[in-house]
Order: sequence, then structure tokens, then C-alpha cells
Amino acid sequence: MKKLVVITGASSGFGAEIAKIFNADGFPMLLLGRRTEKLEKVAAGMDNVMIDSVDVTDYDQFEKAIRKAEVKYGKTDLLVNNAGVMLLGNVQNQNPKEWQTMLDTNVMGVLNGTQIVLNDMREREHGTILNMSSIAGRKTFVNHAAYVASKFGVHGLSETLREENSVKNVRIMMVAPGAAETELLTHVTSKSALKDYAAWEETMGGVVLDPKHVAETVKFMYDMPQEVNIREVDIAATRQDS
Ligand code: NDP
Repeated sequence: MKKLVVITGASSGFGAEIAKIFNADGFPMLLLGRRTEKLEKVAAGMDNVMIDSVDVTDYDQFEKAIRKAEVKYGKTDLLVNNAGVMLLGNVQNQNPKEWQTMLDTNVMGVLNGTQIVLNDMREREHGTILNMSSIAGRKTFVNHAAYVASKFGVHGLSETLREENSVKNVRIMMVAPGAAETELLTHVTSKSALKDYAAWEETMGGVVLDPKHVAETVKFMYDMPQEVNIREVDIAATRQDS
């Protein structure tokens, strides 16, 4: 039996594609998200898969789900901290609750997941945590202030964690995608920000990243031997200029 892979935000987008690719290679998995029906659809027909409705901002819920899967499949060898939200808007008039949601999910969710699996990985001197950041974690975008803050946070905490855990042979990896075709934009409430985003996508000829290429990248990074850490990958549509 291969080792346990835990994927957050597996109910759609990148997470669902990452689940497909690891399942095809025979990995037991725990798929997490809040929408059970969507998780069930992703897991349909897969062997050795557990799903659990978990909000990554709820540490206890998150930990319980992972411990339950570990009883069945053994300790987590890969955690993909992928769950995230992007609520576009500008600071002049965006509802502060949207900032809170992004910081809680995109930063606290990643820290929660990391702590839940990290000590066992350090003890075993084996394991990988891969954080899904964004190009918005290394450069700024108009209408993205709080999202950018959250993803700069993911960049910063990932590199700090890598420095802290390299001595224990634990790999901390990060993938920073550009614009991609997922459900991410469907939660945006600002019509003008959505319009600006659509206009920007048009500059790429409307051809943004296919999530399957992000999933392939994650798999490639993980498949390197434990002594090799592909620390960070930026991946975006060729026509994305920023
Ligand atoms: P989707 O909206 O398709 O997927 C987001 C996933 O996160 C869903 O499965 C959702 O599941 C889950 N999620 C959101 N909030 C929570 C929460 N509180 N607890 C648990 N799960 C949660 O978008 P993407 O696939 O695009 O997003 C995945 C990651 O990729 C995010 O971190 C995003 O910031 C990042 N990213 C996306 C880009 C893009 O253009 N699409 C570009 C760069 C980075 P559920 O609603 O069921 O809880």
C-alpha cells in the first residue's frame, strides 16, 4: 500500500484534479472540503479514498478527519494545503468579512493543516507538505489586496517552514499558479472587480491554465525522491503577462 495523501479543497478545481492523478497512481487518499456532495462526486469510483466534510479553519474538525484516515491508511506522507478562497474587491469598499474569510482560510487553514501532520513527519524524518499559493503571492494585482496579503503570507510561511524543517528531512513545497479555470471566481461579490478580471483574462485570449497541468506539477514534485525538494514552482498560462 502506498502512503496516505491528504488533499484539502478537493471538492473542485485544482484539488479535484490532484485527487484524480494520485488515485490513478494507487495512493490512498483523504479528500477534504465542506461540500460533501461534491466530494462524493470526485471520489466516485475511486478505491482507498475517504472523504470528510471539514472546514480548514476549524482545527479540531481538521485534526479529527486526518487522525481517522491515519488509523486506516497509516501516517500522512503528503498533505496538499490547497483549500482557498479569492474574494476580489478594493479596500475602500470591500466588506471586511471577506478579508477575514480569505485570511482565515488561506493562511490559518494552511497553518492548521501543517501543525496537524508536521510533528509526525519530523519524528519519521519523512513527509511532504505542499502549499498552494499563487502568482499573487509574489506580485501584486489591483483589486486583490487582501488576497495578495493572504498569498504573500503563504509564500512567507512556506519558506520559513522549509528552513525550520529541512534538518528533519521534511519537504515543504509550494506551487504558485496563475489564472486558471476553476470555481474560484464564482464566490466574488464585486461586479466591477469581476469585470476587470474578465477583461484581464481576455488579454490572454481567454486561455487560462487547465487545472490538470497544476495537478501534474504537484505529482511530479512529490514523485522526486525524499532527498530532493522542488521548493517552489510558478506555473501560469504562457500568455499571462503578469
Ligand atoms: P475552487 O474554488 O475550485 O476550489 C477551492 C477549494 O477550496 C474547494 O474545494 C473548496 O471546497 C475549498 N475550500 C474553500 N474554503 C474552505 C474551507 N474553509 N474549508 C475547507 N475547504 C475550503 O478554486 P481553485 O481550485 O482555483 O483553488 C484552489 C487553490 O488554488 C486556492 O488556494 C486558490 O487560492 C489557489 N489558486 C487558484 C488560482 C485560480 O486562478 N484558480 C490561481 C492561483 C492560486 P468547499 O467549498 O467544498 O469547502
